Amino acid sequence: METIQEIAARVYEFGNNSADGNSTMKNLLGGKGANLAEMSSLGIPVPPGFTITTEVCKEFNELGQEAIIGLITPEVEKAIKNMEGIMGAQYGDTKNPLLISVRSGARVSMPGMMDTVLNLGLNDEAVIGIAEKTGNERFAWDSYRRFIQMYGGVVLGMKPQSKEDIDPFEEIIEHLKEKREIQHDTQFTIQDLKDLVYDFKDVIQKSTGQNFPTDPWEQLWGAIIAVFNSWNGARAIYYRKMHDYPDDWGTAVNVQAMVFGNMGAGCGTGVCFTRDAGNGENRFNGEYLLNAQGEDVVAGVRTPQQITKMGSQRWAQLAKIEESDRAENYISLEELMPDIYKELFKYQNILEQHYKDMQDMEFTIQSGKLWILQTRNGKRTGSAMVKIAIDLLKEGLLDEKQALLRIEPNKLDELLHPVFDPNALKRATIIEQGLPASPGAATGQIVFFADEARKFRNTILTRIETSPEDLEGMNLAKGILTARGGMTSHAAVVARGMGKCCISGAGALKIDYKNRLLTVDGKEYHEGDWISLNGTTGNIIEGKVATIEPELSGEFGEIMKIANKYATMAVRTNADTPKDARAARKFGAKGIGLARTEHMFFEVDRIKAMREMILADTVKGRRHALEDLLPMQRSDFEGIFEAMQGLPVTVRLLDPPLHEFVPHQLATQKELAEDMHISLSAVKNKVAELQEFNPMLGHRGCRLGNTFPEITEMQTRAILEAALNLKAKGIEAKPEIMVPLVSTLNEFIAQEEIIRKTADTVFKEYDDTIPYLVGTMIEVPRAALMADLIAKKADFFSFGTNDLTQLTYGYSRDDAGKFLPIYLEKGILKADPFEKLDQEGVGQLIKMATEKGRKIKPKLKVGICGEHGGEPSSVEFCHNNDMNYVSCSPFRVPIARVAAAHAAIGKG
Ligand code: ADP
Ligand code: MG
Ligand code: MG
Repeated sequence: METIQEIAARVYEFGNNSADGNSTMKNLLGGKGANLAEMSSLGIPVPPGFTITTEVCKEFNELGQEAIIGLITPEVEKAIKNMEGIMGAQYGDTKNPLLISVRSGARVSMPGMMDTVLNLGLNDEAVIGIAEKTGNERFAWDSYRRFIQMYGGVVLGMKPQSKEDIDPFEEIIEHLKEKREIQHDTQFTIQDLKDLVYDFKDVIQKSTGQNFPTDPWEQLWGAIIAVFNSWNGARAIYYRKMHDYPDDWGTAVNVQAMVFGNMGAGCGTGVCFTRDAGNGENRFNGEYLLNAQGEDVVAGVRTPQQITKMGSQRWAQLAKIEESDRAENYISLEELMPDIYKELFKYQNILEQHYKDMQDMEFTIQSGKLWILQTRNGKRTGSAMVKIAIDLLKEGLLDEKQALLRIEPNKLDELLHPVFDPNALKRATIIEQGLPASPGAATGQIVFFADEARKFRNTILTRIETSPEDLEGMNLAKGILTARGGMTSHAAVVARGMGKCCISGAGALKIDYKNRLLTVDGKEYHEGDWISLNGTTGNIIEGKVATIEPELSGEFGEIMKIANKYATMAVRTNADTPKDARAARKFGAKGIGLARTEHMFFEVDRIKAMREMILADTVKGRRHALEDLLPMQRSDFEGIFEAMQGLPVTVRLLDPPLHEFVPHQLATQKELAEDMHISLSAVKNKVAELQEFNPMLGHRGCRLGNTFPEITEMQTRAILEAALNLKAKGIEAKPEIMVPLVSTLNEFIAQEEIIRKTADTVFKEYDDTIPYLVGTMIEVPRAALMADLIAKKADFFSFGTNDLTQLTYGYSRDDAGKFLPIYLEKGILKADPFEKLDQEGVGQLIKMATEKGRKIKPKLKVGICGEHGGEPSSVEFCHNNDMNYVSCSPFRVPIARVAAAHAAIGKG
């Protein structure tokens, strides 16, 4: 009986140094709930409360509000009773009321994406009870007006939906401030706060037609349902899409006894990190506000102060504040409340050791007592991620595999992006300095509104502060700049999570949304003006600044070394030039999986010869033009082979439809006619002749080589002569010649014959040989179906997943823009199959072709060279499918290497 009840529990309690749940139950209790339970069991002071599970959220979506309330009422009532016992106050009582918060919490943290309401249980009578009980009337009314505002926004739907809407509550506050000629909320008198309460209730009545609910239980159920609903809010949905989180996880709801940081002297609230989330340095840091509640720090309403003395001094230096001024007016928590600081320091240490990861914690100090309200693995930049993983490994908290699993492959991308050129920085005009909230380099044109972040190609979103509504715009912008808010503000936390450059708290900036104007020291910057952000120093720079390739840190190399140790599948690169090849080798590429030869033809001096070849009417004419092309191709290959120093290089024979090479503009057509001594109309006719209805399904791939064998001959010759020339210089080269777009065995055989025959001729001419392979791309579904036949002849398979996806779905990649985004939005497709390999469908073809091929040739070399080769989930699929390698663009190589190691370690 008891076990059944346990399984069916919908409510998990925590508090008083014990808990029903623990940190392993994130899927059920959400991250926040699971960690609150864990902290409580660890003996860390957490206000008591309970968590309603994510399963209930799912039930809510099916059964609706009435049924859910009915289902969970008994458990909720029992849990509230326990909280009342611990806190010595009663929920709904007017003399000694217990106040509570209702907090959202999904299994992963989605900062600010869903809703939280504080101070439930207040009404016109309870507020008086609280005032008397605490002897602090001001605090009581301040809490009450905050409650009505939050509840009105979150539960009663009065939050502004767009930037045109005005927040009715903020409007009332501003109005009162003007009337009273004051600037800050803290200057309100008790009567002002009472007036706010009445005005708030009034505006709620007017706009919803209902009175503000005075019954605490009605308040509680309203807030719980609102949190469940917030899971399906637009912000939360967008955030999930961005991070690839499924829609069916649901959120948990945490109900917790309130503790107050806004009760006057000896009270405050803050956020802290066990390490630096920007660069990973092992340095406890954070921010706090005196006499404030919950969201005040994160929302960037007031710029908070630093927790540690060292942090405070660093901050003062940036803000150009003298030490004496700092120590007096901007004192750190460490100096102001040394005992509380020591206790906080102790907990951050316990929590980091316990979770073996950098923690991001929320705390509140109520009249000299410290409460911890949340802990989670902190969001961090790519470089902090790498440093922290290696440091924790060195500190013995993690082993190599664990450290490697801490690396989110895609986040490495941030480290590989360009940084400002130090020389250009020396000449830069610095407009102002803010807080270096998220490192990186960003150059763009100023926009002032999140929904205009796409107005220019590169934008800097410039705001007084950001809010969760701005998420999409923040993601689209190149960098984020805010006038208010500290290192733990919404802008800072979200930007670090995105790996986006951000400067916050640049207090000297005057931002005028109405006139779209930024003013600093009397100098004006308008929308569309270029500025640059140095997120590492906090410098805001006028105009554009040149960038250079980044220096990779020692920790990066260490992670890569560990990845190599565990990965069993090789990572190659797609590279068409020696420069790309060298870059990829620096990142650890073990060969080239795809060298496209056509790019080589687009260069100015070559395109002419190429066009002559295409326009030639006879084999003789074509051969003549190809003779001009041969030395150019040969030297290209020499460069690439040399760069790869004996690593295998897969060269794909000419693939694209020929009409891509011919001129379509009159002037160029004329020029070509003159060069070739033929008439303009002859050129025009030829261009028209090459026009195809479906070029992607037309005269391309091996169909070119089979209709114009001389092209295959020339390319084979160029490849092998290059290899032989290098051999003569003592440099090894391992060419693998790849025939594209094969769909029948005979197509391949015809090409292979030409290649082998040409090779024999070349070898005879050189009186020397080198080993080479002849294989094929599998990119037409028919080739996958016939893979066993093809494997009899081919030395290797390389899955060209771009075309394979295109042809399996019947989607033209060039036209998919018209429907793919809509399919994704409507959920008809879960992911863009051109980005993420469709393992279910296209994956079946790959699996089958690999199995068929290896049945004939057990050692058949198999790889993938589509853009999927650098996408972690696709890399994992390739590993599980026993591929020899994946190949991706040079800058994705480190990402693929870590993904390959993860797959080998067996991360699901
Ligand atoms: P989010 O997930 O957006 O951070 P939270 O649920 O953590 O939302 O709550 C928002 C703010 O309110 C946080 O600063 C939190 O510390 C504070 N808060 C939540 N519950 C309580 C409580 N019971 N007592 C005091 N402060 C609280
Ligand atoms: Mg919140
Ligand atoms: Mg929080």
